[in-house]
Amino acid sequence: MNLKKWCEQDEKNSIAIRKEYLKFNLGLKYSKEKIKKLEKESEQRALLFLKKFRAPELLYDACIGGVVGSNTYELDLKLHEERAKKISTKKHKYKGQPVNWNNWRQFVVHAPDKARKQVFDEFIKKTPKITPIINKKFTVSKKIYSDYCRDPLTEYLQEHHMTLKQLENAMTQLRDGVKKPFKKQFKEYSNRLFDKEPEYYDDFYFVRNALFRDMTCGFKNIKPVQSIKRAMKEMGLNPDKVQVDDKDRPKKYASPFCMAVQIPDNVWISYKAENPVEDATSVYHEFGHAIHFNMIDPKKPYWTKNIISNGLAETFSIFFDHFMMDKEYLTKKLKLNPDYAGELIRRHKFSNLFSIAFYTGNSLFRIKYWKDKMKFKDCDKAYANELKKSMGMKIPGQYWKLHHILPESLMYVPSYMLASVQQHNLMRAPLEKKYGKTWWKNKKSGKLVKELAAPGADSKAGKFSKLNIKQYLKTLK
Ligand SMILES: [Zn+2]
Repeated sequence: MNLKKWCEQDEKNSIAIRKEYLKFNLGLKYSKEKIKKLEKESEQRALLFLKKFRAPELLYDACIGGVVGSNTYELDLKLHEERAKKISTKKHKYKGQPVNWNNWRQFVVHAPDKARKQVFDEFIKKTPKITPIINKKFTVSKKIYSDYCRDPLTEYLQEHHMTLKQLENAMTQLRDGVKKPFKKQFKEYSNRLFDKEPEYYDDFYFVRNALFRDMTCGFKNIKPVQSIKRAMKEMGLNPDKVQVDDKDRPKKYASPFCMAVQIPDNVWISYKAENPVEDATSVYHEFGHAIHFNMIDPKKPYWTKNIISNGLAETFSIFFDHFMMDKEYLTKKLKLNPDYAGELIRRHKFSNLFSIAFYTGNSLFRIKYWKDKMKFKDCDKAYANELKKSMGMKIPGQYWKLHHILPESLMYVPSYMLASVQQHNLMRAPLEKKYGKTWWKNKKSGKLVKELAAPGADSKAGKFSKLNIKQYLKTLK
């Protein structure tokens, strides 16, 4: 079999799998048998590649990841199911249903303080019910990587074209850069909006929604899907190919997501309404992912088109969700009241500080896990330690198992941070310099974005060794 034939078969198989996973994540009927069959085929194909080829390296590494995926997808599905069943409480209800992991984030936005604390504590206490699944996933993954003399951290660094030192420095520099303003503003907003001091159960997913609770009125008339499409069109981009699912189904995945069934033409985004302000950020973010995939040059080799690093992918989504922090855009385009827009931006900036404090902690924890070959039983303590350093708070270490990315992905977490800096360095800052404060009105802006998207994995935006973190930190002031 030659490489071309291999790629054709792999693409066919991957599309079929993604179609099933899309149904699963949308909370629609899906076939476990079909997934099982396709995953098996996919593993066979990856193993065949690893036996027959050494290059392209990108594909070789992806095939190791593919073998890991095929050997752990059942654990992922099990985690999804068990989490909904076992991480739940009968003491509180959301829309008539017991509060469980899936509707937890929607529940907390309007729940009384006491109820929130109770649910948080109860869920923490119940983490041992899902611990064995997560442990197994990490053990199985580690074993397969080591069979090929690799580990997820080294793979991640390679994919992002950076060294361990560069990654650690970036995370530490960001963490230390936001520490003071985060702490100060967390206290201020807690006092002002929630009439209390910050506490461990005021997690990022509660705060980033509740923060905008009293601001929904000024944003009510904004239809995020329409407005992001309009903005993209004005930049000379074409968002009409993106498919949108906004239904609220009980089994639908709780977080908004984007899924590329086939790059560049079959790309989906999904979300369920939580809060108009937060929904807008999510929709802009996911649309950013989608249009990035849409813009990848179909003539590029199979691997360059499809193997997009997490950091590269997030660069485009974060670029678009940062429209919510652009005063000119909010007042001139969305016609928001200037005072309201100013307040909105201040709170978005705080939300960003919060995400950096939280995510650099998550990232440094995960980096350490692989670097120090940490034992699984030591994770909770190490996590609590990192969060203490990044957020200045004592938070139960088991919390990482309740997170949506940390137990499911082997690395991923630093990607948001890397991408936040990258999108500013390579897109927002140069665009503003070239076309002024209303650069988003200029069709040439879209051209620059397109040029960075089209090369797929070969994009300059996928190289993270030269981040200018200082420049990004300034935008959060
Ligand atoms: Zn994203």
